[in-house]
Amino acid sequence: MEKKYISTRNLQKEINFYQAIVQGIGEDGGLLVPNFDFAKVDLKELFKLNYVDLATEVLSTFVPEDGKTLIHEACLNAYGKGLFPEIVVPVKKAGDVYVAELFHGQTAAFKDMALSLLPYLMTLSLKQLDEQREVMILAATSGDTGKAALEGFKDVEGTCIKVFYPLDGVSAIQQQQMVSQTGNNVKVIGIHGNFDDAQSAVKKAFASEELKSASDKHNVFLSSANSINVGRLIPQIVYYFHSYFELVRNNEINLGDRINFCVPSGNFGNCLAGYFAKLMGLPINKFICASNKNNILTDFFTTGKYDANREFYKTNAPAMDILVSSNLERLVWFMADGDGEKVRGYMDKLNHEGIYEVDEEIFVRIKDQFKAGYLSEDKVLGTIKECFNETGYLLDTHTAIGYGVLKQYQKDTGDNTKTVLLSTASPYKFPESVYQAIYGEELDVYSAINKLNEKTGVPIPKALAGIKEREILHKKAIDKTEIISFIKSEIEAL
Ligand SMILES: *Cc1c(COP(=O)(O)O)cnc(C)c1O
Repeated sequence: MEKKYISTRNLQKEINFYQAIVQGIGEDGGLLVPNFDFAKVDLKELFKLNYVDLATEVLSTFVPEDGKTLIHEACLNAYGKGLFPEIVVPVKKAGDVYVAELFHGQTAAFKDMALSLLPYLMTLSLKQLDEQREVMILAATSGDTGKAALEGFKDVEGTCIKVFYPLDGVSAIQQQQMVSQTGNNVKVIGIHGNFDDAQSAVKKAFASEELKSASDKHNVFLSSANSINVGRLIPQIVYYFHSYFELVRNNEINLGDRINFCVPSGNFGNCLAGYFAKLMGLPINKFICASNKNNILTDFFTTGKYDANREFYKTNAPAMDILVSSNLERLVWFMADGDGEKVRGYMDKLNHEGIYEVDEEIFVRIKDQFKAGYLSEDKVLGTIKECFNETGYLLDTHTAIGYGVLKQYQKDTGDNTKTVLLSTASPYKFPESVYQAIYGEELDVYSAINKLNEKTGVPIPKALAGIKEREILHKKAIDKTEIISFIKSEIEAL
């Protein structure tokens, strides 16, 4: 069987895995999706594997037959060379909740899970396609993608990377991590605007004829490091299997038992990867999709209406401050049995009217598997404190949203299926909020890090050590309306 990828909006000819990685997004503005049935895996076999081999098995089901050796080498480089701890994703317990810590990579961000691998997937794909042009990676970030992508792509031959972040929309630590980025092929640009502005400008850049002809002239092409890229999405399937197997290894469940996953969500890539794991045969009962005050996903999963005509809030969980949740388009495509015409209709409506509503039949399927809830800002702090006092586990603001939503879901439904909560950030990424939540005192970011460490004993991630002293190397700031012309000038400078 040839493994081909098409666009959710049906106007892109079939391409293979390598082309999908390099291209990043559908030519019609849709997202690339596998146009084949997912391989069903043998849980007993996968259970025996370490993370590198597990990743190899899972990911090679998405690539051409002869690609497995290349994938193995890529997975070894990403997950087997000391950038992650021995157990790549430790699963801890907070009371009766299993917390899978996705933040032990080189930038202490959950985004490292995929962005440690993406540059390897990109370079192997460029080689397979015998691509001579340089690739310019564009990334819009709500904080963590930026740093993880910069670290992944820095000094990677044949590539350069431009990261756009909202000046008022990322935490102090995240900003400091990005603006101090070293590397000869990296640029970090602050945007007067929010994350959605940055993301939609980047999406527009891919569709721009003007940029396309400039790129052709300068022997370069654009690609994406956001979770619109399949190469961001599928590495995330692996830790669903891994977390599940950790519960089996710890005698918490038996192989074959069904469990729930609770996912703090923004662009919905994380949760969607879980759905892919389920399609491959991982016994997952429900997904609980958690949001902050920007609760557009909660409304969608409870009503079937995606209504972006609403106020955008900046919250203490900024990585989830999103109104345009890109990967939802992929879920809708799957739930509509791959009806790209239908999805294109929805997306046209979203673009023109800011709202669409899925058919009843699609909604019934979605609602059967995906539950959702949200937590307001003040409840986030309360949840951090409560969890710490009751279980001794230190949550960051994003993970606290998942924890709070999960507890509420369990109370409302009586569903006491064992549940893995995906932890998307270290508490040291948002230390002011976490410290204030538990000790009631407002501190500056660096004091909060030190005091939190002193009082809780939870170790500070290596990636954040000495961060205060790092030299600021990137000071450029532009308006959201200038993003496209900035990219053009970068292309022309090559
Ligand atoms: C990116 C991110 C999320 C959202 O993940 P999606 O895959 O976009 O849904 C949640 N929390 C943190 C800390 C993140 O960095």
